[in-house]
Amino acid sequence: MRKTAIYTGGLMLLFLAGYALAGLFEERPLTTVKRTRIAMGTLIEIQVRQSQTGSAEAAIQAAFTEVARVEALLSAQRPDSPLWRANHAPTSTIVVEPEIYRLLQRSDEWWQRSDGAFDASLGALVTVWGFGGGSPALPLEHDRLDALEHSGWGQLQLLDQNRLKRPHRVELDLGGIGKGYAVQQAADALRRHGVQQALINAGGDIAAVGGGWRVGIQHPRRQGELIGTLALEDIAVATSGDYEQYFEQGGRRYHHILDPRSGMPAQGAQSVTVIAADCTDADALSTAVFVLGAADGLALVESLPGVESLIVDKSGKILMSSGFRGYLVQQER
Ligand code: AMP
Ligand code: MG
Repeated sequence: MRKTAIYTGGLMLLFLAGYALAGLFEERPLTTVKRTRIAMGTLIEIQVRQSQTGSAEAAIQAAFTEVARVEALLSAQRPDSPLWRANHAPTSTIVVEPEIYRLLQRSDEWWQRSDGAFDASLGALVTVWGFGGGSPALPLEHDRLDALEHSGWGQLQLLDQNRLKRPHRVELDLGGIGKGYAVQQAADALRRHGVQQALINAGGDIAAVGGGWRVGIQHPRRQGELIGTLALEDIAVATSGDYEQYFEQGGRRYHHILDPRSGMPAQGAQSVTVIAADCTDADALSTAVFVLGAADGLALVESLPGVESLIVDKSGKILMSSGFRGYLVQQER
């Protein structure tokens, strides 16, 4: 009897050791679950790499739900979205959703740091150019100047208790920061679901959860060609380009990133890629640096710890901040 008991115990131990060894040496293979959806005016792709595909699906669903929630909150076009309601309020002092208010505070910070290049109050200008969902076309000068007069962050006041004071007709447009915010929120949702390795790409606004991700930087003039490839780990990247939304007229290119001083498309660059810890900041900064142009843009980036940038300037020349090369695994030219 006794002998049998010892024998069984020994077997048990061996079995457990074997199980532990299998766990150590035979890691369960990782699979990548990739899902795409159209939201925020672009194709959003989420990839999750892990051993259990069932929980990956649930995490991806939660991330897409978060993107849809942010889109519904920040859309300037959807009648009756909270942002639309703020823009169309009859009074000059309005109470906005706390989440919108926090984004306005961040927009305010980037407006200050970029010397006004990033400006989230260009709603009237975006509309007059037809970039807010209309059909983009060169506006009459009179209409552009009128919209310019009704744009400009300096006319806005952030008050306490989620209140905002703004002159009638000055409209918020969070197109330069909202997509990055949505991507960041989606990345946070994935992390909350226990995801350790994921990549979210919303038309060039990207967040990497964990490491092992490689992402190409699109050439601004040669479609489908890359400038280089980045290795990403727990970091975000955003790109602003004059090839994303544009039209040509009289041999000139008119695009959607506007210089708040003139109300005209900014002329400083063809594309700007910014790497930062948070995708909201990367997004705001890519727009800001695009407007600032290479010299002032790089000076701003160098002043910010943990932020790097690659700029294709208006002549097509590539410039990089001092630490950008550390992320490049391959450069095509
Ligand atoms: P992005 O692609 O991130 O550079 O954002 C471009 C979008 O931001 C445009 O479609 C506008 O909705 C908005 N926008 C345009 N010019 C500016 C600007 N100077 N500052 C902030 N947002 C802008
Ligand atoms: Mg941006």
